[in-house]
Order: sequence, then structure tokens, then C-alpha cells
Amino acid sequence: LVDEAFARIGEVDGDVQAFLTLNEEAAREQAKALDETGAGDAILAGMPIGIKDNMVTKGLRTTCASHILENYDPLYDATVVEKVNAQKAITIGKLNMDEFAMGSSTETSFFKKAKNPWDLDRVPGGSSGGSAAAVAAGEVLFALGTDTGGSIRQPSAFCGVVGMKPTYGRVSRYGLVAFASSLDQAGPITRTVEDNAYLLQAIAGLDRHDSTSADVAVPNYAAALTGDIKGLRVAVPKEYLGEGIDESVKGTIRAAIKQLESLGAVIDEVSLPHSKYAVPAYYIIASSEASANLARFDGVRYGVRAETDDLIEMYKKSRSEGFGDEVKRRIMLGTFALSSGYYDAYYKKAQQVRTLIKQDFEKVFADHDLIVGPTTPTTAFKIGENIDDPLTMYANDLLTIPVNLAGVPAISLPCGLADGLPVGLQMIGRPFGEETLYRAAHAYEQ
Ligand code: GLN
Repeated sequence: LVDEAFARIGEVDGDVQAFLTLNEEAAREQAKALDETGAGDAILAGMPIGIKDNMVTKGLRTTCASHILENYDPLYDATVVEKVNAQKAITIGKLNMDEFAMGSSTETSFFKKAKNPWDLDRVPGGSSGGSAAAVAAGEVLFALGTDTGGSIRQPSAFCGVVGMKPTYGRVSRYGLVAFASSLDQAGPITRTVEDNAYLLQAIAGLDRHDSTSADVAVPNYAAALTGDIKGLRVAVPKEYLGEGIDESVKGTIRAAIKQLESLGAVIDEVSLPHSKYAVPAYYIIASSEASANLARFDGVRYGVRAETDDLIEMYKKSRSEGFGDEVKRRIMLGTFALSSGYYDAYYKKAQQVRTLIKQDFEKVFADHDLIVGPTTPTTAFKIGENIDDPLTMYANDLLTIPVNLAGVPAISLPCGLADGLPVGLQMIGRPFGEETLYRAAHAYEQ
């Protein structure tokens, strides 16, 4: 399998550009050793996996697709990396992404633009665009991504693969390069729902290195794949099939909902009335947290340092040269929103909106098991189409962002094509309700 992964990468990655760094020598050695020792009870034994390049990997370059970390070799493994290693998965390489996970198209990568394997003129989505593209192109069977506002689900939708954003706290954030700490979650991207369940099984659970990781027992996800969803109460928010969503996407999603109904689910229309405030609230909160988190990149502790004798000048130059435009935009926006005199009007207000959005979900989940709708308002757009228009780019996250603000889990799975491009069906669950998501997604996929 590992040989095949590298052969496939050799064949297609010149076009797809999913990988930033390969781990070829070590991967082949590990695979060989495993052939000799056998798998034991490891659940991912010998499985080729790609790791998003914002997860630190000991001795393996970790760039966040940024110039400022171009030569950064971490001293330790992120907990998720340690956990897939413990299950004997084999790291094939580090995957392309938007710089510091800021973006929806992988176009803000400092190094190269990943492409959508379905149509190389189109984006794979982002920020985990390399992860979704690598799985879709058959380069790896498993990939890890991170999702702060949609970055696992949106690229999974665009590339026709399965992506899960777990409940906030389900998976340790230790060793992920922080973007927005109250929103970030790591999760699996795979071809099938079953594979996805195995990878979440491997990475979920309490970690003493991350105080926000939850002390909630990890269920056996594969055991949830019963194929039976009779009587499941499914809510369809009218905002998710309303204004701003492409007609062709709506049509595909309506057909998928019919399919769930024919499997025995009970469908009900509901409202998430504060959804329309999610994008503005998110961009205040995420940028505010990012502006604080990215303060550590000062030219001293990590990565690229500008040449100058003056200390303040060195900070300024290192950051000016090291960060790309989108990252700078977020730092400026966040610093502004947190500054005295503006804090109450922006940051505090956004936090209040966040609570309202969370309450919208709680109300629906009082008498429904699942919320269903599209993952994205459109299918994959053309490279270059939105990159000069941040507001249009941000609007892409309309349907994914509320989930992060509320901290609940959601999965995107392929549900057919619109105009020849994959459409993602999004299923949103109760906190720690990943089992129900897998059960419903698996029943649908069959
Ligand atoms: N597209 C969103 C952003 O740019 C989400 C990114 C993410 O989930 N990492 O912030």
C-alpha cells in the first residue's frame, strides 16, 4: 500500500499539488518493519495517511503553508499524530493547505496551489484542500485535516470525499498550530464513512496536554454502522435551502433528503434563525483569536528571521516578510476588534451572537436527532474566481461556520453530482453525537 501511495503521488501530484513534504524513506522503512512484525491489534496498521501541514511532526518539516515556517522542524509529535502512529498508520507526507488554515480554496498557500482532482481548473476547497484532494486523487486512503470554520467539510464536499468535524473537545488540539483556539478541531478525511469512523476512533479522547479536550468516553464508532435509521428524527433548516444556495446544489440535497426518508427517517422543516449572523460573528472571533495566537511568530522562536541589527525592526520585518496577505488581513482585523474602545462593539457583540447561534441548535436538538442540509452553497469554484474578493470567499462558509461556533459535530459526505461536480451532504449532530452521524451517513452511503 505504501509503495502504491508513492507511485500514485509520482503519477498525479505534479498536477494535484496536494503534498508539501514527503516522508518517503521513513515511510518505506516503517512499512517494511510492519510487514515483518505483523499488525497486532492496531486498527490502522500499514494504512497510508497524509497529515495536514499545521500538525507538528517530529523531525518532519511543518510549514502551515507559510513562508514564516518554511524551515521549521518540530521537536515533538502532535497528539493526533502520536495516536495514528500508535495505531501503526504510515505517514506518507504533509499536506498542502491555506496559509495558517486561513482560506477556503488552498490558494493562500505560500508554496503552490492544490487542485481539485475532478477538474484541475478548480479549487479543492480549503483550508484542508491538500487533505481532501490527496484522498480524492487516490494518493492516500486516510488524511487528517483541521476545521475552524469549515476547513474539513468544505474541501471534502468539493472533492467528493467524507470529512468529519468532531465535537469541540473530542480530539486533542495539542500540537496543532493554533488558528482560533475556541473553534479549532482536528478530524478525519477518507473515502468511506467506515474508514472515517476508524480514523476518529484512533485520534479521539482526553489528553492531559490539552485542557479543553473532553473527559468523555470514546464509543466504538464502527459498531454504530448498523444501516438502520428507522425513526431517526431529521431536521432540515429552511435557511440551509434558502437564499444564496445554488439551485443545482439544492436539487441534489433535496434528493438526498428523500433518500433518508425512504430509509425510514422522519423529516421535519425547522429554523436556525440566527444563521445569517454566523459569518460576521465568526470572522470577528476567529480573527481576534488568530491575532493573539500568531503573536508567537516573531522571528525569534520559530522559522524565518529578517536580517537587521535592530530588535523592533527585526520583529516587524520578519512578520512583514513572513506572513502572506490573508494572514495579515486577519491579524489586523483581529487586533482592531480587540482594541480598547472597539472591543464591546465587535468582539463582545460577536460572542453574544455566538451564544444565540448555539441556542438555535439546542432548540432544534431538543426534539430532533440530526440536522441535515448542504455543506456548501456552491460546488467547487474556478481557481482565481474568488481570491481577490474576500467577502465572497468568506460567504462560502455560510453553512459550516455555525457548527464551529456552537461546538457541535458535523460530517460532510458525497451525495451526487451537480453539473458534473461533487455535492456534499452535511449532517450536524448533538455534542458528542458522532455515533449518530456515522450511523446516518453510513446508512445513506449504502
Ligand atoms: N474558510 C474559513 C476561514 O478562512 C475556515 C478556515 C478553517 O476552518 N480553518 O477562516
